Amino acid sequence: MTKRILFLFPCFILLMVTTGNTQNPDQIRIPDILGYKTLTFDPHSHTVFSDGLVWPTVRVEEAWREGIDAISLSEHIEYRPFQRDVVVPDHNRAYDVARPAAERRDILLIRGNEITRSMPPGHFNALFHEDSNKLAVTEWRDAFRAAREQGAFMLWNHPGWNNQQPGPAQWHEEHTWLLENDMLHGIEVINGLLPNYYSPEAHQWCLDHGLAIIGSSDAHNPMAMDIDFASGERRAMTLVFAEERSIPAIKEAMMNQRTAAYFDDIIVGREEHLMALFQESIEIESVTRHRYSFSAVLKNHSDIPVVLTGKPGANETAEFFHKLTIPSQGSTEIYISDLNQDNIEEITLELIVENYLSRPGQGMPVQLTFRPD
Ligand SMILES: [Zn+2]
Ligand SMILES: [Zn+2]
Repeated sequence: MTKRILFLFPCFILLMVTTGNTQNPDQIRIPDILGYKTLTFDPHSHTVFSDGLVWPTVRVEEAWREGIDAISLSEHIEYRPFQRDVVVPDHNRAYDVARPAAERRDILLIRGNEITRSMPPGHFNALFHEDSNKLAVTEWRDAFRAAREQGAFMLWNHPGWNNQQPGPAQWHEEHTWLLENDMLHGIEVINGLLPNYYSPEAHQWCLDHGLAIIGSSDAHNPMAMDIDFASGERRAMTLVFAEERSIPAIKEAMMNQRTAAYFDDIIVGREEHLMALFQESIEIESVTRHRYSFSAVLKNHSDIPVVLTGKPGANETAEFFHKLTIPSQGSTEIYISDLNQDNIEEITLELIVENYLSRPGQGMPVQLTFRPD
């Protein structure tokens, strides 16, 4: 009896260690594209080390539970209201506190800080740098230089935040200076903290200037206070199309604009990436031709639903769904009537993917051809 207990005890320890390192089975499932791995990264969140309301290890645990690959605790450099209670002078501390937990949970923890200045230039995250303390300088240009000297990726946060500039987001000459000096690499087009924050202006600037399209939570509260997980909601985040699941590969992908922003079943990105995501996600199954119509099943291999409508002015010879949602990892049967009643061999529909924004505020046009099996 004693022997058996002695035998079981080390097994229990082993089990604890093993489960600690295992990847969350609830990993968000979005297809890989173009030979790259599709990773999930939230590059903007806060803890008590600036103005957030959680301890750094809690952010790691939240990411693990949500099946997210990478996070950044982007503490404000200039705004740390809890200084009297918990904050130490060392700006690296939140990262250092979270790091062992991140290693245990296999969460890629990327050093980040929010350079928090009035507009212009506004708030910017430096990411992937080595020493946060070097960003704590008086002049904003010196803070950007200090980040860039460390090879940082520089992200313009919430350019259309009403508190800083009411109305549409505006580009200032300071932003041109940053762009010309390799200190602007991406813009938040989606910010989960601000209600319904999607900036079409920021989306257009990303396309015009070759910048990464970024979505982030900007979480301050415990995640479950702001996100209704029970209803399937997720935090805002960035999809990164990376060569492998590593921090250097995420940086390489972001520096080369292989990203998309994701929030509330909407993906904002470049057409080349969204088209590939659509092709990898949607499969046409079991097409049947009837006398003057077709039926088929559309299957979705992604956790993100796909919403389709007909392209206005197209498809004059076909009658089909008005608006169709192919649910996450689910399928939907559709019917298409050939109005010419020609007994054609196949039929092609011109559609719009309403929740894939490849242009500011506009869904992505796609074609689907239905050919009987
Ligand atoms: Zn901010
Ligand atoms: Zn922030």
